[in-house]
Amino acid sequence: MTNGDSTESLDPQDWAATRALAHRMVDDAITHLRTVRDRPVWQSMPEDVRASYHAPLPMGPMPLERVYAEMQRNLQPYAMGNIHPRFWGWYMGAGNFTGALGDFLAAIDGSNLGGGDTAAAATDRQVVAWLTEMMGFPATASGTLTSGGSMANMVGLTVARNALAGVDVRTEGITALPRGLRFYTSDQAHTAHQKALEILGLGSRSLRLVASDEAFRMDLNALAAAIAEDRAAGRQPVAVIAAAGTTNTGAIDDLKAIGALCRREGLWFHIDGCIGALIKIAPGHRHLVDGLEQADSVALDPHKWMHTPFEAGCALVRNAELHRNTLALHGEYLEEKPRGLAAGEFLSDYSFELSRGFKALKIWMSLKEQGVEKFGRLIDQNIEQGRYLTAQIAKHPRLKLMAPTSINIVCFRYEVAGADEATTKALNTEIMLRIQEAGTAMPSDTTVRGHHALRVAINNHRTTLADLDLFLTEVVRHGTELEQSMRSTG
Ligand SMILES: *Cc1c(COP(=O)(O)O)cnc(C)c1O
Repeated sequence: MTNGDSTESLDPQDWAATRALAHRMVDDAITHLRTVRDRPVWQSMPEDVRASYHAPLPMGPMPLERVYAEMQRNLQPYAMGNIHPRFWGWYMGAGNFTGALGDFLAAIDGSNLGGGDTAAAATDRQVVAWLTEMMGFPATASGTLTSGGSMANMVGLTVARNALAGVDVRTEGITALPRGLRFYTSDQAHTAHQKALEILGLGSRSLRLVASDEAFRMDLNALAAAIAEDRAAGRQPVAVIAAAGTTNTGAIDDLKAIGALCRREGLWFHIDGCIGALIKIAPGHRHLVDGLEQADSVALDPHKWMHTPFEAGCALVRNAELHRNTLALHGEYLEEKPRGLAAGEFLSDYSFELSRGFKALKIWMSLKEQGVEKFGRLIDQNIEQGRYLTAQIAKHPRLKLMAPTSINIVCFRYEVAGADEATTKALNTEIMLRIQEAGTAMPSDTTVRGHHALRVAINNHRTTLADLDLFLTEVVRHGTELEQSMRSTG
C-alpha cells in the first residue's frame, strides 16, 4: 500500500523476512523440546534478568528478531520446568508439541468461540462430545471448555445451586434464599470449591468438610450424618462434591456409593475429576473411577493428564437444559439467527465468558494424532510408575511412606530416628529445596494428617523409571548429608 495511502496495519512489512524468522522459531522450539532432558528442570532468574521485566513501556518499534532474541535470553531458560521429565511438583501437565502447534494455529484462525457458525465452534463442540464419551456420559449431556479445573468446578456448582436452590437465583439472587445451602466434600478437597462458593455468594460456611478415612476417602457415615444434621437444623443440603483423585494423596472417593447416596437424598452429585477423571480412558485402571459416569456434573482438566498446553479444563453437565438455564443470555446485539454467521446455538450459553478462545484445537489435534488409547496407556504408565516409586521407598530403611499410594501421587519423607516433627520437616524441606535448586528434579511438599511429606505427582509422559531412581538417590544422598551434619552439630 505505497501509492500515497498511509493506512497502517499490524501485518509484517517484509513477509519473506518474517517467514524466515518464524521458521527459525519453529526450528528452535523443536530443538528446545528435544533437548529438554539435558537442561536443569528449573533455575532461578539472575537479578539482571529479573530487572529486565521492569522495562519501560515500549513507545516505538523494535525488530521482531530482537524481541525474539530477548525472549530467548530472558524468558526461555526460566520456565516452570513442567515439560521436563523429572518435574513432579503440585499437579501439572507436561505439554506436548502438537498441542503447541494447535495453540499457534488456533490464533492464526483467530475465531472468537463465544458463538457463530464456524468450524472452530464445531471443533469445540466435537472436543466436548469426545470428552463426554470418554467420561461415559450420555451424548445428551452438555459441556464447556474452561480455562481450567477451578472454573470447571465452578460451572458445576453454579448449575447445582441454581437447579436446587428452590428460588429463582438468577432473578432474585441469593438474598432470596430462605435457608442456608450446604455443599459437602471431604477434608481432602481442593480449595477451588471453597473459592467457588465464596464467589457464588454462599460463603465458605456453605461448604462442609466431611472427615476422610485412613485411605483419605470421604467417610460415608460422616457424610450421611452431616446431611442429617443440616436438615434437622433447617439448612438445605444441595450437593456432594466427590473427588476422583485428591490433590494431596490421589485418593479416589467411593463414587458409586456417593452417587447412590445423592440419589436417595435428592442431592446434586458433582465430581471433581481434575486429577483422576481421565483414568476413565486408562484400560488398566479405569475401574478405579467406576460411578463417575453417574454424576450430575464433572470437572476435568485436559491440561493435567492429557498434557494439553495450559489452559484447558472442561465441565460436563448431565442435564443440558439446567446448564443452559443457568448461563444463557442474549443482548439485542447478539440475537441468534436462522442463517448466516450468527446461526446455531452460542457456546457462550454454557459458559461464564462471552468471548472464548479456540482452546479446542490443541486438544482436537493431539487426540486425532495420538488416539485416545495412547492417552489411556500414558495414564496407566504414570500409575505404574507411582507404584514402582512406592515400592522403592518402602524398601529403603530411611524413607517412609506418608500416605497409601492410590494412583500417581506418592507422599513420603526421609526420617531420622528420634527426630521430632519440626526437625523432620526442616530436614525434608531442605532436601526438597536442594534438589529444586540443583535443577535435578521438581518434587513439591505437603502436610498429611499433620505430618510433613515430600510429594511426587508423576503426571508426566516423559518420565522414565531411571528418572525416579535418580531422584530417590538424590533424596537419600542429601538426607544422609544433612543427617550427618545434624549429628556433628549436636
Ligand atoms: C488442579 C485441581 C483443581 C484446580 O484446577 P485448575 O486447573 O488448577 O484450575 C481442582 N481440583 C483438583 C482436585 C485439582 O487437582
